[in-house]
Amino acid sequence: AEAIRIQDAGKQYENGTLALSNIHLSVHEGEFVSLVGPSGCGKSTLLRIMAGLDQATSGKVQIQSEQASFVFQEANLMPWRTVVANVALPLEISGVSAAERKQRALAALEKVGLTAHADSYPRQLSGGMKMRVSIARALVSEPKLLFMDEPFGALDEMTRHRLHEELLNIWMNSNLTIVFVTHSVFEAVYLSGRVVAMEAHPGTIKQIIPIEESYP
Ligand code: ADP
Ligand code: ADP
Repeated sequence: AEAIRIQDAGKQYENGTLALSNIHLSVHEGEFVSLVGPSGCGKSTLLRIMAGLDQATSGKVQIQSEQASFVFQEANLMPWRTVVANVALPLEISGVSAAERKQRALAALEKVGLTAHADSYPRQLSGGMKMRVSIARALVSEPKLLFMDEPFGALDEMTRHRLHEELLNIWMNSNLTIVFVTHSVFEAVYLSGRVVAMEAHPGTIKQIIPIEESYP
């Protein structure tokens, strides 16, 4: 089944910038797809539209599930909250009981290998660990769709590589649909079953490259 279906979508911002045009794209349930292209080609705009955070100004966008989470380059953790309390935040907002929050937050932390740091504060963590907390916070509400906007862009190469392996593990052991934005062709090809290559002026899809065949 299709998780997201976009037909001939375009986006013009209020200041007149045409950020996207002629976008045709379907994302299937359980797929891991990357959007790649140079800065300013419209990747973030397309991601926000796919996530329902922004609206296309033309064309048709259908999103199957409301259960979506977002991960950004900045982990955006609350410094005065412990790791487990940061991860539990989305559940607090949706009114889940304290006991269940804690149990689910710890389970999410286990997925990213950070159980031992549950009671630490963000300032005690490395950049890679903060990103793991951010991923755990996204997973805690058990979303069907995960949108990631250059999540590893600020990390060093070794940390990024470890997070690639961890993210692939999480994805393989779930039925998550992941849409991943990057400007790195290497990262896109390494992670995804399908790469959507975009180009600027205004943002359009240049090519859709299926990578599936090259999986081991
Ligand atoms: P990236 O290139 O990593 O996607 P940008 O630095 O271009 O990020 O954009 C960061 C934020 O600023 C985004 O939320 C985007 O919507 C907003 N933004 C980018 N360009 C403009 C612009 N010309 N006018 C207003 N907001 C913008
Ligand atoms: P990318 O993520 O590929 O860097 P963006 O989606 O951030 O690209 O931006 C696509 C184009 O839209 C760019 O020209 C950017 O400056 C512009 N843009 C992004 N956000 C806004 C905004 N809120 N208002 C006006 N222009 C924007």
